[in-house]
Amino acid sequence: MDIRYFDNSATTKIKEEVLKEMFPYLSIQYGNPSSIYSIGRNAKRAVEEARKRVAAIINCRPEEIYFTSCGSESDNTALKGIAYANKEKGKHIITSKIEHPAILNTCENLQKHGFEVSYVGVNKDGIINLEELKNLIRKDTVLISIMFANNEIGTIQPIEEIAKIAHKNNILFHTDAVQAVGNIPIDVEKMGIDMLSLSGHKIYAPKGIGALYIKKGIEFERFMDGGHQEKNKRAGTENVAQIVGLGKACQIANQDLENYQEKLRGLRNYCLEKIKENIPNIHINGTMEKRLPGNINISFKGIDSNELLFRLDEFGICASGGSACSSGDNSPSHVLTAIGTPSELEKSAIRFTFGDFNTKEDVDYLVKVLSEIIKEPIDLH
Ligand code: PLP
Repeated sequence: MDIRYFDNSATTKIKEEVLKEMFPYLSIQYGNPSSIYSIGRNAKRAVEEARKRVAAIINCRPEEIYFTSCGSESDNTALKGIAYANKEKGKHIITSKIEHPAILNTCENLQKHGFEVSYVGVNKDGIINLEELKNLIRKDTVLISIMFANNEIGTIQPIEEIAKIAHKNNILFHTDAVQAVGNIPIDVEKMGIDMLSLSGHKIYAPKGIGALYIKKGIEFERFMDGGHQEKNKRAGTENVAQIVGLGKACQIANQDLENYQEKLRGLRNYCLEKIKENIPNIHINGTMEKRLPGNINISFKGIDSNELLFRLDEFGICASGGSACSSGDNSPSHVLTAIGTPSELEKSAIRFTFGDFNTKEDVDYLVKVLSEIIKEPIDLH
């Protein structure tokens, strides 16, 4: 059975071109980038080329990019690194109620270590309340961390405005852009972003590679002690092949962003129209206006989302009932709760996220299967 994959926000399939560039660094080019002989130097060169490509996709300087093992590590480093480096100045951080667990659980950890965290809410569309954000700022606030785009409902935050609010108050601004990079244009300089997290496996590079942008001059504590790699800020022999993969994925995404967005938006909108035509009683979660082009999150009233996901899987269809991190976990989605979704709609929410490998024919198949499954009543118990 063919797999029809609509879970590109959970992870993406690695692109052939990415694998091709990685392969030598998993085989013949096995040198350690810190070594002085030629295969070491080749590895070093590959890492630095990848750094340039990653920097280019967000418009920063290559030396402002630090490679990490994933988006979660980038988030941990940004939050803990800034909190500990500024603890004499202040111990208050602001984030939002709809962040990924990589941020929320890092904040929880910081709270256990004497830091204070305030959580700004969102409106029913899934957009941060800027007035509330301003009111949460205190004299001891050192960091605001707000995600660029949400992983469950795809809503895009007013990043430039948030950065302005932060800077007006002399506060650093970090954004978790794991879902945004490679999907929407990002310019850290123009947008006033001080720190940004990204991850390879959301943009057709492998899992287990991420990067953190930190604006030059910003002091932060390193997260990993050990050797002198990454300007002494992130120890560990560089994961050369994965870094090369991330660089290639960024290069591809950067070259073709407009067409890619158009393709995803086209598939997503086509899917939504077909669903509306064929399936009654649906509800869209989050605004359609400020949203990632490939995201749709729909509640199918009266249907249990886990049951529906299992039934879809029988037909080779992969989708998600919220964020991948919460699959298998029946607790309510904190994002849907934050936008005020009633519990019956929350239990029936499905996220479909589109990617480069999807076709219109995949969408036709999805809608056909969905409408057939939904016509038959699903036993909820
Ligand atoms: N932040 C967001 C918004 C995410 O969607 C994810 C992964 O789903 C992460 C952070 C964590 O990234 P990684 O899986 O690379 O640790």
